[in-house]
Order: sequence, then structure tokens, then C-alpha cells
Amino acid sequence: MKTIGLIGGMSWESSLEYYRLINEGVKERLGGLHSAQCLLFSFDFAEIEALQMAGDWETAGRKLAQAASALERGGADVLVLCTNTMHKLAASIESATRLPFLHIADATAAAIRADGLTTIGLLGTKFTMEHDFYRGRLEERFGLNVLTPEAADRQIIHDIIYNELCLGSIRDESRRAYLTIMDKLAARGAQAVILGCTEIALLVQPAHTAIPLYDTTALHARAAVEWALE
Ligand code: GLU
Repeated sequence: MKTIGLIGGMSWESSLEYYRLINEGVKERLGGLHSAQCLLFSFDFAEIEALQMAGDWETAGRKLAQAASALERGGADVLVLCTNTMHKLAASIESATRLPFLHIADATAAAIRADGLTTIGLLGTKFTMEHDFYRGRLEERFGLNVLTPEAADRQIIHDIIYNELCLGSIRDESRRAYLTIMDKLAARGAQAVILGCTEIALLVQPAHTAIPLYDTTALHARAAVEWALE
């Protein structure tokens, strides 16, 4: 089995999910006492969030690059960045090591394409919904038509991520807000919705809605397991 290098802590609430999912995935494939061979570099998210808010992507990119090299030196065979937002800096990681980098949007888009869908709603932080690194990749590399919520709804989605989900707070009222916004995306033609933030599945699960969901955390973790066992 290859060693999965996880760059996490953004937030640790979702890194915990990655850790659980990759271990469950390996156990499912190999059975018995098998579990994932992995390393985790976990950031202090307060430091990262401050850089995001200040728009200091250069310093954040340097930090991610250092984490990636540390994981490479530690023996990782592949890199998995446990946040959609920080994939904005995927290039900083890719240029810092020779290790393969499993991009979260690729794992997600592959599943969407395999299901034959073309028009998809995207929920995530404002960075993920508004900057081009994510939706651009879905559109240009995978030919998907990506819909995002209107500005006021994007703010609601974003605030709930930082003020609640990344702090481990799961509230029914926030779930209702998410579901209402998802219904609006479906009414505009979205055939499914990407949970494009690694904490959203803590709040919204398939049992809550008839709209098909693409949970980036689960899809990314599955891609990591497949790669490690290849
Ligand atoms: N985990 C989140 C994501 O997937 C948000 C936290 C962050 O900004 O990294 O985008």
C-alpha cells in the first residue's frame, strides 16, 4: 500500500472525516484489520483563515508548499489537500514536490461525468464559488455547466462554513438555509449539487434532499484510497 500524505487542518473538523473515510475505504477493500497508511500535516486554521481574509495567497502558498515538502520527506507517495478552497494554490504544491497531487475537483468531476450529468450547482466558500480556479476547471477540463447561488446566498453559504461548520457547530436552521438555496439552484436547472467545501456534508446529507449530492470529501477520499491501493 502506498502512503497518503494529507494536508489538513482546514478545518480539522473535515480532516477528521478524511481520516475516517480513507481508513474505512481501505478496510472495505482489504478487509480485516487493514487500515490506511497515511501522514497528516495539520495546519492551525486561524493562521490560514487570516491569510485568506487578507488576500495574502502568496504566503498561504508558501505554507502549503512547505507542508507538501515535509510530507514528501516524511515518506508520502501522494498528496491530498483536504480543502476545496486551498486548491486555489494547487500550483504552489505541485511545484514544491515531485509527488502526484490528487486534485479534489478532478475526483468530483469524474464522478459527475460518469453519471452523465452536465449542469451542476456549486456550493462552497466565496473563494470557491467566485474565483476561477474551481469552476473554471470544472467547465474547461470537464465541460460542465456550473451554477452558483446569487450573491446574498453565496454570503450565507460562506458565513455558515466559517462561523459554524469549521467550529463544529451543526444547526438545523443553517441546514434549512442550505436546502432552500439548493432548491433555487435546482429550479435554475442544476441536476445535482456539488458540496464543494469539505465541511458541508457534516450539515447536509442525501437524506435531507431529493437533489443528488456530490460530496467532495467522500469523492476525494475515495480517489486517495484507489490511488494508494493501485
Ligand atoms: N474546508 C473548506 C473547503 O473545502 C473551507 C475551509 C478553507 O477555507 O480551507 O473549502
